[in-house]
Amino acid sequence: MPIVLIVLGMAGSGKTTFVQRLVSQMSMEGKRTYNVNLDPAVLEVKFPASIDIRDSVKYKNIMKSYKLGPNGAILTCLNIFAAQFDQVVKLIEAKKDDIDYVIIDTPGQIEAFSQSASGQIITDSLACTFPCINLYIADTVRCENPNTFMSNMFYALSILYKSKIPLLICFNKIDVLDHSFALEWMKDFEQFDQNLSKVDTYLSSLSRSLSLVLEEFYKNIEACGVSAGTGKGFDKLELKFEKCKQEYYDVF
Ligand code: GDP
Ligand code: MG
Repeated sequence: MPIVLIVLGMAGSGKTTFVQRLVSQMSMEGKRTYNVNLDPAVLEVKFPASIDIRDSVKYKNIMKSYKLGPNGAILTCLNIFAAQFDQVVKLIEAKKDDIDYVIIDTPGQIEAFSQSASGQIITDSLACTFPCINLYIADTVRCENPNTFMSNMFYALSILYKSKIPLLICFNKIDVLDHSFALEWMKDFEQFDQNLSKVDTYLSSLSRSLSLVLEEFYKNIEACGVSAGTGKGFDKLELKFEKCKQEYYDVF
């Protein structure tokens, strides 16, 4: 059975660059990947896509014919595609002996996929057939701000809740800033606390309380650092994927 990797994250966190890097890295290692682009609004797909949402729904046409703005059009494209997604699952099933990984890139704005009915349909239909993992891409540089870090963690948590499949947090862009502080913050509440504003503002005291709530979440979540830009950290990903796959069978 191939492992399905669903790549999620805030706009600009580096999802597409990550997919591009992972696809080329795996091909160098002789791994066979089946790559899917689910971003209907992207101008150019920078990795070889076996399935591209843009082949079946035209973003610009949807915008015009339904008189929609950019976000509404992305959601509508996903809805139309989700209605035919059983065919995609059948295609992957037919090829399952020749594929090691299915890698899925999702639309720029995270909520288009993670909080939509179509995202749920797509995730559910994959997860009932294949071992699936959500890869949450976080921008390490932006996470340096404890409040942004906290909002990223809550986003990741909400994805875990909604999708009910294992989650791997990938702190991206470690070529710019090392992610060790983020791993520390996940491990040790006091480290995080020390970095909050010393002035007791509403936000910092909220972050303090929330980080205690998140302790249980952190304990069971896999995290790692990567640079989609340079390839740093990608050699350790496969081990993490295997761990999450085991979790998929044992826990989920
Ligand atoms: P997406 O919206 O999540 O798909 O993000 P993109 O893959 O389009 O990347 C957003 C921006 O971040 C682009 O300018 C990328 O070049 C940049 N980027 C992505 N990964 C890295 C990385 O590992 N290091 C650095 N320095 N920049 C990156
Ligand atoms: Mg993208």
